[in-house]
Amino acid sequence: MTDHKEYLDQHGIKKTKQRILILNILSQAENIMTVEEIYLELSKQGVVISLSTIYRIMELFLAKGLVVKSIIPGNNKGVFSLKRLEHNHHLICLKCKKTVALKGCPLTEFERNVEQQTEFNIVDHNLELYGYCNKCK
Ligand SMILES: [Zn+2]
Ligand SMILES: [Zn+2]
Repeated sequence: MTDHKEYLDQHGIKKTKQRILILNILSQAENIMTVEEIYLELSKQGVVISLSTIYRIMELFLAKGLVVKSIIPGNNKGVFSLKRLEHNHHLICLKCKKTVALKGCPLTEFERNVEQQTEFNIVDHNLELYGYCNKCK
């Protein structure tokens, strides 16, 4: 709990009870979450925060680099996960949203080539693979 408060500090985000609660949920989540799922998880804990407030908080977290947002192909839903320190990519099941972290990064060399071709200084990238897990396929 205390780390999360410091975490907000480090990212220059003002601490509010709502933000800390949402951060806790994200840090305990094994899977990526939609705003609706965060809402449901909060109500399970007896906390009511409106969907639009959660949305605003997620946009703030996103702007401050605290979370990563992906769009699930097909339904245009934004899903969020806490940005972890280690760099990795995920397999995401479109049905149950189970996520599996992949070891290593296949894009390092690709990035270098793109940098050479475009003279961009690439600092980050995002790659998720979508499909159906064992149980859902
Ligand atoms: Zn699944
Ligand atoms: Zn990578």
